[in-house]
Amino acid sequence: MGAFASGAVQANRLPGYPHMSVVARAFVAVFAIAAAALWLLSRSPQYQLFGELVDRVETDDRLIALTFDDGPARENTPRILAMLAALDVKATFYLVGEAISYHPEEARAIVAAGHEVGNHSYTHSRMLLRSPGFVASEVERTSALIREIGYTGAIHFRPPYGKKLFTLPYYLWRQDIKTITWSVAPESNLPSHASPEAIAAYVLEHARPGDIVLLHVMFKVREHSLAAVPLIVQGLRESGYRLVTVSELLAHGET
Ligand SMILES: [Zn+2]
Repeated sequence: MGAFASGAVQANRLPGYPHMSVVARAFVAVFAIAAAALWLLSRSPQYQLFGELVDRVETDDRLIALTFDDGPARENTPRILAMLAALDVKATFYLVGEAISYHPEEARAIVAAGHEVGNHSYTHSRMLLRSPGFVASEVERTSALIREIGYTGAIHFRPPYGKKLFTLPYYLWRQDIKTITWSVAPESNLPSHASPEAIAAYVLEHARPGDIVLLHVMFKVREHSLAAVPLIVQGLRESGYRLVTVSELLAHGET
């Protein structure tokens, strides 16, 4: 009886906010929906509010771009470069400005090997609710370093963590810089301990003409991603794909 009574008291106190008006409740609901929509937009690889975002290219040609985020790093840069050279593949590296400043030789080696280089911000911060000045500094310092290491091609931008909302897309749009995301992300869809074979199998299963594949190979924790690269390249070639850089892919189709 005691338990029943206290339950009844709880039930009277808990439901809703009894003195909130219908208008206030509607306002809260609309606010919550808007916040959820903005959150989804901020992390979507397919959409942003301003400017051109490319997650893949519409083409019937069996072309795929392999892209590597982060770094350069001292140990794994020579390893991925040796691997790509042995496979005769040109890829696209989205480099972090601060890491270029720590490892300029590794960064120059990427350029010298003929790969495409893109801008992945200076400090790898989440670019949400940032001031226009912060965004401009992150992008411009990194692009200046990318020119210093000898890269002369178009520099596209890939947002750290894929995050963007207002100021970043607006800035990139005004500067006529393309945002490049991805359409195949095995690491985001597999357990962190997935084997190289599992990572490669995911890519081969999901790959379509015009796709952009995202991998992280620069750090020790991503050894399996690094080891997956030859398996991915061999498997894609067996399915008739040719591996190209992002700029080559962009030149091939309507986005
Ligand atoms: Zn990153």
